[in-house]
Amino acid sequence: MADLASIRTPYYRYDLDLLKETVDFASAEANRYGYTIHYAIKANHDPVIAGIIRDRGLGADCVSGNEVQRSLELGFPAQGIVFAGVGKTDEEISLALEKDIFCLNCESVEELQVIDEIAARSGKIARIALRVNPSVEAGTHRNITTGLDENKFGISMPHLKSALNICSTSENLDFTGLHFHIGSQISSLEPYRNLCERVNAIWHEYDIEGYGGYVLNLGGGYGIDYNNPEGNPVPDFRSFFSLFSENLRLPVGTEVHFELGRSLVGQCGRIVTKVLYTKQGIGRKFVITDAGMTELMRPSLYQAVHAIKNISSSGEPETYDVVGPVCESTDVFARDTELPVTKRGDMLEILSCGAYAESMTLNFNLREKAGKVYISGNTVINGKQYHEDDETALISGNGHGYLHKV
Ligand SMILES: *Cc1c(COP(=O)(O)O)cnc(C)c1O
Repeated sequence: MADLASIRTPYYRYDLDLLKETVDFASAEANRYGYTIHYAIKANHDPVIAGIIRDRGLGADCVSGNEVQRSLELGFPAQGIVFAGVGKTDEEISLALEKDIFCLNCESVEELQVIDEIAARSGKIARIALRVNPSVEAGTHRNITTGLDENKFGISMPHLKSALNICSTSENLDFTGLHFHIGSQISSLEPYRNLCERVNAIWHEYDIEGYGGYVLNLGGGYGIDYNNPEGNPVPDFRSFFSLFSENLRLPVGTEVHFELGRSLVGQCGRIVTKVLYTKQGIGRKFVITDAGMTELMRPSLYQAVHAIKNISSSGEPETYDVVGPVCESTDVFARDTELPVTKRGDMLEILSCGAYAESMTLNFNLREKAGKVYISGNTVINGKQYHEDDETALISGNGHGYLHKV
């Protein structure tokens, strides 16, 4: 039996069973109310992970032409693809029209005019939703709020009326409804309750139904438990979806859509990394790993906290700064964190790395792309079933992919 210790570190380790459990639970809870979920593929565009999500019938939420292209290549049906982003290029808009995706989530009046022109020129009808900036506080880190006046996202309230009027007079725009996405890693339901109230008021005040609106897309942003990932691996989708069913007041027949990223995939991934060195500094001890901000930039980008485990040691706890090898002072995974006494060669796991880790990989310092391992007790990959020896892992990295028995 091959063993995982022989694999080159660092690598991403994906637990496909946890992924399936999470997606199945989210789908079941959404289905109670007839809600539709699109997977925000920017969280993790790995083909095996996205493939599992596609197999469960979710749509795809994209924020670039390449993500639209990737989603189509992975077999997400065009009619389940939505496309947001404040800076869509003419080429990206043309691609979306040509592929006839479900909807462009339009973020400004000027973008709306450009979509209208491109649709007219190519003889197409563009299905669009207006992304509204509702001025709702998401209570999350300031770098990941998106629904405040200071944020670049969405059409601000004073311009909604003129955007609606453009939709109703254009022959090439097919208005489907409104889109909201107020931020990410939202860890309480309160912001969503406030969002529901805003949406109810806007829908009524602007007579969205009268303009032909039949889709409300509420975006994503539901958080995961970074502090206790093993105790709380699957987000509480029951409370999440039931909150909307209790608080939304919309005309009968309105479709409610969501775009979930982190909450679906965040807990299914870890980074496995080896300790290269330990070093006594002035007043602190450093653990230097072979993974860095190039594999996980969230801590450097917005002080994100990820739980870290030493899976080689069971010694007495000590306090360390866990840092990467990259030439940036922000290349730090954790400050003043407790680990069992740690030495060169120990293996660490950085938890909750399924979302916004691999997909944000940096090429800085010409670092090599990390490999990955998929773990599952009962895995079907590309239509083939792997179940020998209970656990199998498909390992791919640095352009190679191969199956590896654990
Ligand atoms: C990033 C993003 C999402 C998903 O956010 P999560 O926090 O990962 O759920 C949904 N919608 C839009 C428009 C986004 O940009």
